[in-house]
Amino acid sequence: MSTPVETPVPVIGEAVLPAAGGSDPRPLQAPGPSAVGGNPLQRDHATTIFEKGAAGRRSFVAPDAGVPEADLDEILPARLRRSAPARLPQVTEGELVRHYVRLSRRNFDLDTGFYPLGSCTMKHNPRLHERVTALPGHARLHPFQDPAHAQGALELMWGLERQLAEVSGLPHVCLQPSAGSHGELAGVLLARAYHEARGETRTKVLTPDTAHGTNPATVTMAGLEVVKVATNPDGGVDLDDLRAKADDDTALLMLTNPNTLGIFDPNIEEISSIVHGVGGVLYYDGANLNAIMGITRPGDMGFDIVHFNLHKSFTQPHGGGGPGSGPIAVSDRISPYLPLPVIRREEAPAGDGPTGPSGARFSLVEDAAALPEGAPGSQSIGKLRGFQGNYGCFVRSYTYITSLGAAGLRDASEVAVLNANYLLAKLEELGVREYLPLAFGTRCMHEFVLSGGPLKRDLGIRTLDLAKRLLDHGFHPPTVYFPLLVDEALLIEPVETEAKETLDAFALAIAEIVREAQDDPSLAQNAPYSTPVRRLDEAGAAKRPRIRQPLD
Ligand SMILES: *Cc1c(COP(=O)(O)O)cnc(C)c1O
Repeated sequence: MSTPVETPVPVIGEAVLPAAGGSDPRPLQAPGPSAVGGNPLQRDHATTIFEKGAAGRRSFVAPDAGVPEADLDEILPARLRRSAPARLPQVTEGELVRHYVRLSRRNFDLDTGFYPLGSCTMKHNPRLHERVTALPGHARLHPFQDPAHAQGALELMWGLERQLAEVSGLPHVCLQPSAGSHGELAGVLLARAYHEARGETRTKVLTPDTAHGTNPATVTMAGLEVVKVATNPDGGVDLDDLRAKADDDTALLMLTNPNTLGIFDPNIEEISSIVHGVGGVLYYDGANLNAIMGITRPGDMGFDIVHFNLHKSFTQPHGGGGPGSGPIAVSDRISPYLPLPVIRREEAPAGDGPTGPSGARFSLVEDAAALPEGAPGSQSIGKLRGFQGNYGCFVRSYTYITSLGAAGLRDASEVAVLNANYLLAKLEELGVREYLPLAFGTRCMHEFVLSGGPLKRDLGIRTLDLAKRLLDHGFHPPTVYFPLLVDEALLIEPVETEAKETLDAFALAIAEIVREAQDDPSLAQNAPYSTPVRRLDEAGAAKRPRIRQPLD
């Protein structure tokens, strides 16, 4: 079995210096096709596990099941069974380990390098979280476990709800949504239900033009209409435009504050009163809370609904598609519409059946009719997914918040803002700002946006070229071409867990790329040189993936 794969994986043409951060990443001369040895990562190993191994090889031999043999026909009728066994790979454990470890090394990851992906918060994931999540009581919990025998898990979830309520300043929390965008959908459906219960059909959703792309996508998915609000010269919401567009057809405003320009809108109370003034609901996109945890709260700014990205602000390994978690917190007036089930906590008399560690008893209320009128969930929009959400994420974020405490969360935010401003100042000191000016304002919160417009105009390299060249210096590029209102945008979020040396090295790498482009722009234009694959047709890979593999 050694069929070439159909997936278009470019062959690596050049051997290059290893991409150690900051070392001299020039391309070397390519070795001939028969070159032996070299770095195996740079050889073409574009094979799948199906091309490895041989018949009869095994990584694992199952022990005797220890149950009586049964007639297969009685357990599973022949019409439901395969006619031939599935052609699974047959490999030794050694082959298996090498294959997947090698694949994992072809990717850039947070555990080996700086990853300043703005808006996405790639902060260090403390290893304590993994140890706690791996405890058998968490890791082996079955979704169908009777809640009476999952009291510890329910108490942890209830505790996380209380923590998120405190962080957001909104009293009611639902952990169910599986991602930030899923939390947004929940929030928009809640706002719609709120208006409908008052006999109103409002169709418009105001979103600033700095909004994350998921905001307008969510609005469309919920069947409502997106109305864009302009940004003022300071990077905040244009109040005149907001006043002109807010009316009695406005269902809600979706806002991030600080926004994706890394700017905290000082007019937030005015914004809040304009939207409430026309009867609209205020939705806070809290995917990234890294500038405000323990400092200010969306509930105190007048918001009714918030979603959190546990996988950003509250640490989860993420990137690459999940699992994530996007809980929501809401005010009293929105709470009756919350998704079901809701977690109920009751004081339990001693000796009266299983309880959580605190001695209280927890249950899941699945039926809105079982809830008192006006209670959270009593006019529920329904269920958003199977079971309760991604439980492993809850354990990690609960561990994070509990181990940091209120003061620690505040510290995390303060250092995130300090690091971002330090990096901004360092770039200025290195003379980079002439080619990469700050798009709005003079300082930033936890992230900032540079414009690569002058770099393109004066030196002929685009933000994309700069991003690709950063890979040769051993850094993951920042977010590029977002937010959309900035020409050649570069959105940088250095996060609180990075050391000064890392920020310095990153700033030096950017300065070096700018300097090098003054001599020879083609170096950046053709980068990267040191990665397992060069430039890919990313849109093509997403839109026309070739993922079938013939087996003979
Ligand atoms: C990441 C992000 C989202 C979407 O979150 P997902 O979990 O990727 O769906 C929404 N808004 C902002 C500001 C974000 O940074």
